[in-house]
Amino acid sequence: MGNIILCIEDNPDNTLLFKRVLEAAGYKIRHAKNGLDGIAVAESEEIDLILLDINLPDIDGYEVARRLRKSAKISLAKIPIIVVTANALKGDAQKALDAGCNLYLSKPIDIHALWSHIDSFVHLSNGLEI
Ligand code: MN
Repeated sequence: MGNIILCIEDNPDNTLLFKRVLEAAGYKIRHAKNGLDGIAVAESEEIDLILLDINLPDIDGYEVARRLRKSAKISLAKIPIIVVTANALKGDAQKALDAGCNLYLSKPIDIHALWSHIDSFVHLSNGLEI
C-alpha cells in the first residue's frame, strides 16, 4: 500500500491547493482535469485513494464513481473515493454515497479534516491488506 492520491479536479486553484497540502503531508499526487482522464489514470496506474470533484467538464463525479466501481480493474471496486465539492445541495451527499463514494466533503476545504480522513482510509487499507 502506497501513498499515491489521484486528484480528479478541473479547477487549477483547487488542484494546486490539494497538491501543496498533500505533498506536504507526504503523499504523491497524480492529477486528471476531467472525468474520463481520471478513470484512465486510475485504470492504468497504481493509485491508493481518489479525491473526486463533482462538477467536471465531461462526465460528472457521480458517473466517474459509478464507472470506477464497475471497472474491470478489480482494485477500483474498493479504492477509497473522497468527494470534495462546492456543489453542496441537499441530497448531494447521499447521491455521492449511492454512486459508490466513501465520503463527501464540501468546499471550502478544512485541510486538517481532509488529512485525517485520508490518513484513516490509507491506514485502514494497510490494515486490511496484510
Ligand atoms: Mn469542478
